Amino acid sequence: CGIVGFIGKEQAAPILLDGLSRLEYRGYDSAGLAVYDAEKGLQVVKAKGRLQVLRDLTREGQEVPGLMGVGHTRWATHGAPNDVNSHPQVSQSGRMAVVHNGIIENYAKLKKFLESKGVQFVSETDTEVVAQLLDYYYKGDLLDAVSKVLHRIQGAYALGIVCADEPDKLVAVRKDSPLILGLGQGFTMLASDVTALIRYTREVCYLDDGEMAVLTPDGVKVYNALVQPVEKETSHVDWEI
Ligand code: GLU
Repeated sequence: CGIVGFIGKEQAAPILLDGLSRLEYRGYDSAGLAVYDAEKGLQVVKAKGRLQVLRDLTREGQEVPGLMGVGHTRWATHGAPNDVNSHPQVSQSGRMAVVHNGIIENYAKLKKFLESKGVQFVSETDTEVVAQLLDYYYKGDLLDAVSKVLHRIQGAYALGIVCADEPDKLVAVRKDSPLILGLGQGFTMLASDVTALIRYTREVCYLDDGEMAVLTPDGVKVYNALVQPVEKETSHVDWEI
């Protein structure tokens, strides 16, 4: 239901928790985050219940150090609200972590395909298919894997993607579900709603349907589904919340 992402030079988890708290008004049943750290690797903490459960589990984010990551509040559509079905959803190898708003309509077919290739699923969500499919297509180039996945999934989605093998970037994509990028000094962010960003930056960029964004601490690069660079305008948000 709500997505936040951060990559920069500060601890990501407290910023992700704060961003998620700004999205609370939308309603949700579970919350989670994935944060990457060079020493600890990809750390995923998620749980059914209020954001406070996640705050307590991570000691306000202190237990999950790292300068980049994604967070999620879930409004379950596929699979009961429980810890396993909470996002981030992680691929079998542990390499890909995905947060998702929306519905992957053809997930059952894709799940069958992946199971026939030996992939084992742990959740009942449509979202896990995205994480597993990304891993299936990953051959050392995250953006290439994302574009392959975009050609196979149908439905509405905003996705925040972390790949432990490419921890210098976050990838964001969307179709028929909102996703906004925030550009700061030495950091960039993504969020499903601008309210999660404006405490940190008021320079934003709106992703269009089918576009992919690569976020690094230095800025954002946007591509179309064929992985061709797209020129984007940024805008300044001056209203107060
Ligand atoms: N369809 C996904 C799920 O049920 C995402 C729901 C959401 O937008 O929060 O896990």
